[in-house]
Amino acid sequence: MAVVGGSAAGFFTAWLLSRTGRPVCVFEQNDRLDPASRTLIVTHRMREMLRELGEPSVVNEIRRFEIWSDGRSAQVSLDRPDLIVERSTLIQTLAERARAAGAEVVLGRRFIRFSQDPDAPGLVTERRGSGESETVPASVVVGADGALSEVARRAGWPRPETVPLLQAIVRLPPDFPPDTVRVWFVPEETPYFYWLIPETPTQGALGLIGEDGEKTRTCLQQFLDRHGFEPIEYQGARIPIYVGWVPVHRRVAGMDVYLVGDAASQVKVSTVGGIVTGLRGAEAVSSAILRSDGSRQLRSLRRELNLHLLVRRSLHQFSQQDYSRLLDLLNPAAHDSLSRFHRDDVARMLLRLCQSQPRLLWLGLRGLLAKGVLSSNGQSG
Ligand SMILES: Cc1cc2nc3c(=O)[nH]c(=O)nc-3n(C[C@H](O)[C@H](O)[C@H](O)COP(=O)(O)OP(=O)(O)OC[C@H]3O[C@@H](n4cnc5c(N)ncnc54)[C@H](O)[C@@H]3O)c2cc1C
Repeated sequence: MAVVGGSAAGFFTAWLLSRTGRPVCVFEQNDRLDPASRTLIVTHRMREMLRELGEPSVVNEIRRFEIWSDGRSAQVSLDRPDLIVERSTLIQTLAERARAAGAEVVLGRRFIRFSQDPDAPGLVTERRGSGESETVPASVVVGADGALSEVARRAGWPRPETVPLLQAIVRLPPDFPPDTVRVWFVPEETPYFYWLIPETPTQGALGLIGEDGEKTRTCLQQFLDRHGFEPIEYQGARIPIYVGWVPVHRRVAGMDVYLVGDAASQVKVSTVGGIVTGLRGAEAVSSAILRSDGSRQLRSLRRELNLHLLVRRSLHQFSQQDYSRLLDLLNPAAHDSLSRFHRDDVARMLLRLCQSQPRLLWLGLRGLLAKGVLSSNGQSG
């Protein structure tokens, strides 16, 4: 079995497969396993999925969200903390575990295409630097090669839509609580939001998701200036957005080809977070490969991603006034629902929220009904 892409989704898949004794080889295009640093926030669902595997990468815990719209704010405490994760440590830990379970990791080797020889199914890979190519036999291939997946393209999956995500590492103001994430809704600048995520007591990541790369850079710069933050470094990339379920399996040239993580747009489009959903995709695909059945997990992931899409379609229509109204509607019962249920269990969270404050449902529906959003195919706005 071959896994293309040595990152979170790829190494988690490799670990799940190789610990059952199956031969697994991971091909990563980079020469070294030192992925770019990225400060990530995930729900404690990651802890439940990875257990002790995820712990070395956890650099901070978040117990409160402070949400701002047009000078108003609301605070939401979390019963179970969100985790701030350093991505490169997460990837290196997962790689070590996959290796320890027997997976071979080949660095500096890029997937180019599938072999076209029907008697010898496999991958054509290219050695970085020398350009020398090699065909590697494989009957099962997992594409974990990110938003611009070559495995997906060669197997005929359509290219995903992507959005720019950009964040600056900044020094935190002296009175900033290190267990609190601050979120600002400024729909004139982005239909998503700005965030400030503390990674240490003195330093955090301030960023936004945008729609256009140039405008996103300008907005971040202006936001930093407005709030008096000095950027220490920048982190960014284009993230695939989920606009509908991507079937994860195809038969190609005599091989079973699967996609996991960003390669399959397994990203919660309400917040554009892809770590937990990518790990869930990896779990489902591994079950499908090992037991010929990951359908229950895939159905559950699909439901989750679809609900986030619904939320995103509604939020995409929100004006500044709608966000302010949203904050005003957060009564104690709604606060309690947000504290107890997290965004990786969005069905329960939405249900409890609407039970505790039915007017939130009307606000959400108004967004959905605006401009015929419900009937549109892709993402609005
Ligand atoms: C700045 C930033 C902040 C983010 N913040 C969050 C957050 O707070 N919470 C969250 O949940 N998500 C966040 N995300 C999204 C999250 O990082 C991604 O969803 C996740 O890392 C995707 O993991 P992946 O393993 O699917 O793909 P990737 O991490 O993109 O890995 C793909 C791998 O495949 C390799 N590869 C590509 N092509 C080939 C090839 N042809 N041959 C061999 N190897 C190849 C690449 O080198 C790479 O190692 C953030 C993203 C960015 C950019």
